[in-house]
Amino acid sequence: MDWLTHVIWQNGKLFGIDWSVWKIIGWGGNAAFFSRFFVQWYATEKKKQVVVPTAFWWLSLAGSLLLLTYSLHQEDSVFIFAYLFTWIPYIRNLVIHRRHQNAHTNCPACGKSCPPQSNFCPHCGARLTAVGASVTSPALR
Ligand SMILES: [Zn+2]
Repeated sequence: MDWLTHVIWQNGKLFGIDWSVWKIIGWGGNAAFFSRFFVQWYATEKKKQVVVPTAFWWLSLAGSLLLLTYSLHQEDSVFIFAYLFTWIPYIRNLVIHRRHQNAHTNCPACGKSCPPQSNFCPHCGARLTAVGASVTSPALR
């Protein structure tokens, strides 16, 4: 366990790092960026299919903005360019997700949320479209 103490506490400093506000911002960005993989992995294992939860995009956005802030402070052009535009797809994915969530309708029979443009409730099977609409169930043909 002496080696572990040496890794955590080196030369009287946590992880041997000279901590400052800027180091906290930079390492906070690294932590947010790194943790998103575990969030995505957990969501995928839980559903047994590849899933990218919104928490992944929020962590990506937070991590990239923190790392961009740190890189601007460091005045490192390579590091700045790496995070200068990454926020665009993260915000776009969050906007698309919000629009998709808002397009859901609640089932009049069971009250659960149904995907946009559904004809039938995936939870209870109740018809969601108005009677007389042009869409007919394959079972009714
Ligand atoms: Zn229903």
